[in-house]
Amino acid sequence: MKRKQQSQASTTLLKDICGYEEEKIEVQKIISLLNDYEKYDQQGVNIPRGLIFQGPPGTGKTLFAKAIAGECHYNFYTVFSSELDENPLATVKQVFKDAEAYVQETNKPSIVYIDEIDKLVYTNNYGDLADTDSREATRFLLQKLDETKLKNKILIVASTNEYRKIPEALLRSGRFDKKILIDLPDVESREAILNYYINNHPLFKNIDVSKLALKTGGMSGADIKTLINNTLLEYVTIKEHIELDDFIKIINEMNFETIGKQWKSAKTALEILAHEVGHALVSYEFFKTFGTVSAIKYGYLAGSTTFDDVEEDDDDHEFLEEIPESRKPDANETLEKCLNNICVAFGGMAGERVYLNEHSFGNGGDLSEVCGRISKISDVGGFGFYWSREIDDYGASERWRNKYHKHTVRLCNKYYRKSIRIVKKNKAFGLYLIDEIHQNNDVLSAEALKEKRQYFLQHKKELTKKYKKLHVLDLKN
Ligand code: ATP
Repeated sequence: MKRKQQSQASTTLLKDICGYEEEKIEVQKIISLLNDYEKYDQQGVNIPRGLIFQGPPGTGKTLFAKAIAGECHYNFYTVFSSELDENPLATVKQVFKDAEAYVQETNKPSIVYIDEIDKLVYTNNYGDLADTDSREATRFLLQKLDETKLKNKILIVASTNEYRKIPEALLRSGRFDKKILIDLPDVESREAILNYYINNHPLFKNIDVSKLALKTGGMSGADIKTLINNTLLEYVTIKEHIELDDFIKIINEMNFETIGKQWKSAKTALEILAHEVGHALVSYEFFKTFGTVSAIKYGYLAGSTTFDDVEEDDDDHEFLEEIPESRKPDANETLEKCLNNICVAFGGMAGERVYLNEHSFGNGGDLSEVCGRISKISDVGGFGFYWSREIDDYGASERWRNKYHKHTVRLCNKYYRKSIRIVKKNKAFGLYLIDEIHQNNDVLSAEALKEKRQYFLQHKKELTKKYKKLHVLDLKN
């Protein structure tokens, strides 16, 4: 069998991985152990037979595996995930054969790295090995893990995006002994990765990277590398320097997986802005942040309000100091914040009601967010009901479903009205924002909207008088 690549000496080191400081400490322990395993062995420390990195795609799991090889001067054998599509077991057997031959020949240790191991060994939904191929591959790996002690100078490292698919038998102690989660990067890691790929390029001279890091929540290291490359591609021949707002287009295009298009009709753009500014006003009321508001079309998405990531604990971040409250990630969200977020989701409909006196058909996404949050709160008894008592072994009873339905409708009405009150209270200011966003090619960032708010407050009297008289569609002219 001919393979793309037999082996390589890895030149990657831990310092080549940006951010991920805690994970690096964990990996450093393994490196120290591998570099000095006799000392650890004498102290009775069990040497791992297998190491598995788990986490979303593009987060640097392969980089970490290569860094172990680089730091320990091990040879690095890779089973590429693309090779696992066809005859995976034969490929893996071949790689092990090569590695073992190399070790025998040179007496130097090696790492065999299996990328996306869940393509080789996988279980079905019931946790059983899915088919004969998976069963045979599992048997082979178990045998290798059992015989491959570090003294034999081979360490098996694997990575997966689908940890739950890996057979239990492989994860037991004595098999893949060490599991390390490489999750999506936090804000500090994103900042480090951004700095690395920006690499002092003059185009980014004016960019405050810590603010940009807040806008890249949910992106992996690989996404950030692509973001910088796409930004260079877009602007390098037409601008000398870019501003933070120039990133909005590229980030949105990556998040929505399509290019953005301006609405040809000013009327449509303004109607969409009425909806989006509704979200922004309600968000500002509770969280003191507007989000980036846009009436640019991305595929089926007519417009958007996207919120920056906010790291709660980071007290010295000047941008964060202005944000006492935040749209926290789901798991840490308190009941109060969850209810406030329900209002923010209703903000779009409230904007349509206040500025257009109607509702569009584009509220499906917002309504499912509302219903998702209500059901989440109900599930944990957040409204003071013991819902679980009403559910028998066969699922929810008819009575429970009726009660739940009525309860949801009541809550929707309550928080929808609350959102309307907030938009009404800020009606003239909202109209001013719609005007400003429309004049700026239908998009403004959260920071720019905050500046607009300052300006509005300084000229409140005359601007309120002007916008009070106007209807949103008058802004076309
Ligand atoms: P997959 O699960 O898709 O195999 P992965 O988690 O193994 O992905 P890598 O292949 O290691 O991810 O990373 C992809 C690329 O993204 C790297 O080659 C590197 O260019 C970049 N990258 C990811 N994370 C980082 C990081 N922390 N520092 C620097 N570059 C990074």
